[in-house]
Amino acid sequence: MPLHKFTVILAALVAGVSIAACQAPPAAAELAVPSAPPAAHPPAGMRIAALPSGSTQSSAAMAYEGGRRDDKRTFVAGAILVDHPKGKLLFDAGYGRDLAEHFKTAPKIMQLSVKPVLTRPVVEQLSAAGVKPSDLKAIVLTHAHWDHVSGVAALPGAPVWVSRDEMAFIRSGAAAATLARKIGLKDYRAYDFPDGPYEGFARSWDVFDDGSVVLVPAAGHTPGSIVAFVSTPDGRRYALIGDTAWQAEGVTLPAQKPMLTRFVDEDAAATKALLEKLHALKQAQPNLVIVPAHDARVWATLPTLAAVN
Ligand SMILES: [Zn+2]
Repeated sequence: MPLHKFTVILAALVAGVSIAACQAPPAAAELAVPSAPPAAHPPAGMRIAALPSGSTQSSAAMAYEGGRRDDKRTFVAGAILVDHPKGKLLFDAGYGRDLAEHFKTAPKIMQLSVKPVLTRPVVEQLSAAGVKPSDLKAIVLTHAHWDHVSGVAALPGAPVWVSRDEMAFIRSGAAAATLARKIGLKDYRAYDFPDGPYEGFARSWDVFDDGSVVLVPAAGHTPGSIVAFVSTPDGRRYALIGDTAWQAEGVTLPAQKPMLTRFVDEDAAATKALLEKLHALKQAQPNLVIVPAHDARVWATLPTLAAVN
């Protein structure tokens, strides 16, 4: 075959491949983020409250790439209560009374480098506010790591909602979900995302059918991690992003976890793509409050449980 003919065929093949690539449906991570928030109709009386249960002391250098070692950070751990007329949802459960025992299931490098301090278990804070564990509609895990499930042990009678992929992760025997298995799976319930695109995510679950609490799949940190979007009657909007970023800069810069701690992300590339998406969302909707599970500075801006009652 003459060389020029071969070149023409090769060029046609390359063009065909690139056209095919353009026509491929966008992956979930590639959906554009909307410039305005979706409609939400949070009912009167619905509220959100932060229940910090304890913390570790670390630095920005451990939290995100480019963070400084002399930039000391408090990593809070706790629960976020969403009190809706149709039910109380507790996002994560923070440190429980058996913190010392539970911490032994954490990655060894973490056990050697940080010391978690329990200030007040979530169950005690709920009790002081007159909320019994059985009053909870569900404990919704952003993901199943030890510092999010430790407090679950003290909240019997409340079902624990995990995405179907996170349930599979727990059941896979993954070391990172050891405590979730130890605490027991009898109250765990797996859910799907039956609703359509939301805030640039391909699938969602509008829990109360009023747009006030919408869960989306956010695989990366763990295979079944979620982001929970919460809209309150005062017009505020929150994105509870779990450990996709540990501190706000993960989204505002954006920046993934540094090499030293990135091993905690099951899929580092997916986590990075997710941070970029959340960054774009925050740019498009500056009023959206991004709530990393461990950024004490952001938690300090949230309403407290005392204010709820
Ligand atoms: Zn965590």
